[in-house]
Amino acid sequence: MKGFYHQILKLDLTCHGQQIEPISDDILERFLGGKGLATHLLMENNPTGVDPMSPENHLVLATGPVSGTPVWGSCRYGVYTRSPQTGLYSESYSGGTVGDYLSKTGFDAVVLYGASKDPCWIEVSDHGTFFHDAEDLRGLDTFETEDRIKAWIRKNRPDAPKCGVVCIGPAGENGVRFSVIENDYWRSAGRTGVGAVIGSKKIKGIAFWGSQRKEAADPEWVKRYAKDLSRQAKEDPGVLAYKSKGTPMMVDTMSRVGSFPTRYWHKGEAAHRERINADALHQRLHVTPNACLKCLIACGRLSVVKEGRHQGLKIEGPEYETIYAFGGLCEVDTIEEIAYLNDICDRLGMDTISAGNLTAFAIEAARQGRIDCDIDYDEPDKIARLLKDMAYRRGIGDVLSQGIKVAAREWNMEDQAIHVKGMEPPGYDPRVLKGMGLAYGSSPRGACHLRATFYKPELSGIIEPDGIEGKAALFAEWEDRLIIMDTLIVCRFYRDLYPWKELSNLIRAVTGLDLNVEKMRRIAQDISSATRRFNIREGLTPEGDRLPRRFHMEVLPETQKVITEEEMDRLLRDYYRARGWNEDGVPPETKDRP
Ligand code: SF4
Repeated sequence: MKGFYHQILKLDLTCHGQQIEPISDDILERFLGGKGLATHLLMENNPTGVDPMSPENHLVLATGPVSGTPVWGSCRYGVYTRSPQTGLYSESYSGGTVGDYLSKTGFDAVVLYGASKDPCWIEVSDHGTFFHDAEDLRGLDTFETEDRIKAWIRKNRPDAPKCGVVCIGPAGENGVRFSVIENDYWRSAGRTGVGAVIGSKKIKGIAFWGSQRKEAADPEWVKRYAKDLSRQAKEDPGVLAYKSKGTPMMVDTMSRVGSFPTRYWHKGEAAHRERINADALHQRLHVTPNACLKCLIACGRLSVVKEGRHQGLKIEGPEYETIYAFGGLCEVDTIEEIAYLNDICDRLGMDTISAGNLTAFAIEAARQGRIDCDIDYDEPDKIARLLKDMAYRRGIGDVLSQGIKVAAREWNMEDQAIHVKGMEPPGYDPRVLKGMGLAYGSSPRGACHLRATFYKPELSGIIEPDGIEGKAALFAEWEDRLIIMDTLIVCRFYRDLYPWKELSNLIRAVTGLDLNVEKMRRIAQDISSATRRFNIREGLTPEGDRLPRRFHMEVLPETQKVITEEEMDRLLRDYYRARGWNEDGVPPETKDRP
């Protein structure tokens, strides 16, 4: 089969050993690459009940069959492991440039296990894999770490074309359970604490370089298709919207329907919306659209603060999710202050969604006198201090660094904490967008918006946000298509450009496999069931799919909406049925499936 190198690199970090293992056509036909291959590797290799921060936990970095090709949206990589934040299946993806460099090393996936005795960084290339001492990188932020590793490669590897670097900051080194793996300064595999996993293995960064290229089944078709798509996409309204306003456009969209989570999930709209929305960003900062490699959309905003106390601060962002987390949940009043907090999280290597949720939770705790902490809504400097305390695990910050479940238990606030499976939700209130309730409950990695991006059909009129009837079946279909996108691996924002038919064409041109919709859905279903089995063997029960009670009990003031327990029961029941699982969400036993 084309589209793959048919080999993975396994790195034993304990002895700094390495092994190249073949991957058979049979495995690749069943799982494709990316998420499918990585899930298979985790099911095969990760011991049941492994402590996520222990040497025995495996972490897989993978690309897909379209990586390294001219396919638009293809420059991404995925990270898969057992999450230290949820204790469950973990997947996280990042764009930028690294996906291409990882692919050029000549491996479909790199698997890390064991733990180095001393801090190190790893060089993976088609000229060999080398472990380097990282004592001098200890404690550096993500930007400095990336710069230093790239400078070393430039100086010592005259044969190397440019390289891609992934790394962690102090938060990952200190075991903060929502720390990220970052690349290209501002791009990150942001959710589920993958940074803490490589931090626990004493890996500060990994550089990828090489000049390998995979053979496509029909390279001429791939080239022609990329050209045609770039012509068509010029008129596409979704592409134009992302290009002109980026993800911050969602501030207005979500506010209009009363689903912009504000004041730690007590409200659905922010009074200061006009100071934090896409218009504010574009007026108050110098903004240039920025793209990952192989992208025609360019949703990124390369932004420089024009004036005020953060004048000159440069960042790619803030993205919608960061605006919601600090501007909504913590009610930070201006886009410049949100950029400032975003920059702190990026440098320290922390997920802004979790960090913003935890900060707002701490603000609630402080207001109720449950903790001794001088902090309130819209206090950016005190929020900045708390973020640093989280990364360096000081005082209240140490409690928060262990995640929302620990903080809620410690402060006796379990009835107020908003999370599913230990992961805090992104910026879509499920009391308004009820399909997002199912998204948060059913996602294997906890409250997640990306497995089906179901806000899209609910906001665009494909299905009524309030309705329940038929929702789970449509949800499963969206999720299946995006699972296939994650096996390839392509960016979520290409979902409208790659309907089923185009995915089928792409897979045929790249791999030579002839997959109709039914076959692709079967593969997606198998992968979905495999992630569910992974979670069940790690202790997930149907209770773990439930939403926090506040979403059922606390009415949103603007819309008077809740999602009732009965509605959530029905959505989950229908979803389990659509997936072919029993009433407890357990997939059937199969001999030949993982
Ligand atoms: S749409 Fe945005 S995230 Fe996706 S590939 Fe393009 S720039 Fe990267």
